[in-house]
Amino acid sequence: MSLEEYKRKRDFGKTKEPAGEVKKGDGKIYVIQKHYASHLHWDLRLEKDGVLKSWAVPKEPPTKKGTRRLVITTEDHPIDYADFEGEIPEGEYGAGKVEIWDSGTYEEEKWREDKEIIVQLKGKRLNGRYCLIRFQKVENGWLFFRCDKNGE
Ligand code: MN
Repeated sequence: MSLEEYKRKRDFGKTKEPAGEVKKGDGKIYVIQKHYASHLHWDLRLEKDGVLKSWAVPKEPPTKKGTRRLVITTEDHPIDYADFEGEIPEGEYGAGKVEIWDSGTYEEEKWREDKEIIVQLKGKRLNGRYCLIRFQKVENGWLFFRCDKNGE
């Protein structure tokens, strides 16, 4: 795992985002940040192998069963980013306000790289079983939706 792309895109003399490093946590961080960039979106992040695996969610993340969002993989972020809130300055990558929209922990049920991820999210807004299924028609695309087991 590497934060090369994350670091290449940012000037840490200008943005207050954490420079961060790859580090081992307990592997359970779940966070969604609402990002008022040129296009409003949400950023879903799950701690895995010392970084935050990240996806951009174009509309409000699905709290109920039945809504599927096409989300796009973005660069790995440092663990320290999970607490970041603030204003990314004009002219910098991702300029605009970032606020934490939901946070908590998650339990991994299945993690098949670039194929299928199933997790139990334990946040305040998103709480339950969620699936990320690779959507091959779109580059870096995944479908993100609530996927309770039948009968729940
Ligand atoms: Mn973003």
